[in-house]
Amino acid sequence: MLTIGCHLSSADGFLSMGKEAISINANTFQFFTRNPRGFKSKNLDVSDCESFNKYWKEHDGKMIVAHAPYTLNPCSADERVRELAHMIMSDDLQRLEHINGVYYNFHPGSHVKQGVEVGTTYIVNLLNEILTPTQSTIVLLETMAGKGSEIGKTFEELKAIIDRVDHSEKLGVCLDTCHIFDGGYDIVNDLGGVMDKFDSVIGISKLKAVHLNDSKNTLGSHKDRHELIGKGNIGLDPLVKFISRKEIQNLPLILETPNDINGYKSEIALLRSYRP
Ligand code: FE
Ligand code: FE
Ligand code: ZN
Repeated sequence: MLTIGCHLSSADGFLSMGKEAISINANTFQFFTRNPRGFKSKNLDVSDCESFNKYWKEHDGKMIVAHAPYTLNPCSADERVRELAHMIMSDDLQRLEHINGVYYNFHPGSHVKQGVEVGTTYIVNLLNEILTPTQSTIVLLETMAGKGSEIGKTFEELKAIIDRVDHSEKLGVCLDTCHIFDGGYDIVNDLGGVMDKFDSVIGISKLKAVHLNDSKNTLGSHKDRHELIGKGNIGLDPLVKFISRKEIQNLPLILETPNDINGYKSEIALLRSYRP
């Protein structure tokens, strides 16, 4: 059975997200660990975490995905901004230890004129400070569209990070279909070639989760605007082929399409009609 779900609001806690997911026939979901534009988080509600764990297991829920606030910039030139990323990510990781079966996804960041090499070093240093051999959560680097000076727009840039992290066994990759398409990987005409490239550069075993989105922009546009499944420049057929591939089976597929909850429910039904 396909593991598919969508991004949900975490405002009412974990149990509430779990129930909302089940109500739309999802068996995974993603949420922001705190206000995506700010950094505030609610007090940790351990009993909500426990209720969720129990409910999710009873309903055969799969791995879920926590998303760090996208305003974090782990490779900023400003030391205070890097410190903030450090503080928030280590706090998030501590909190996530209360949830069974969760990945922690983050955007590697934007180097803003410092160059990829300097930016990469900051990201590596941060990961070397926050990853511990005993943590249960695997941290995911998201593939980026290459908007502005984003790091992670090529598989090679992600591999360069992974290679320099001590506890790289705690590190994986979340592939965003809109981002890699906007980044120039032609999943419409050469899906097999792109997946082979991922495998030869990073290694397919590092692929832990997928953001399943269509794109409002064209191949290589470096824009990052998500579109509804089948309504963008990737199109339904390549996305169905993508989720049908054997490397993708059992990975959490998260829709981040511009939808309300009913729209997500329809997209999940649509995709399950091709791949139950
Ligand atoms: Fe993201
Ligand atoms: Fe994404
Ligand atoms: Zn995006």
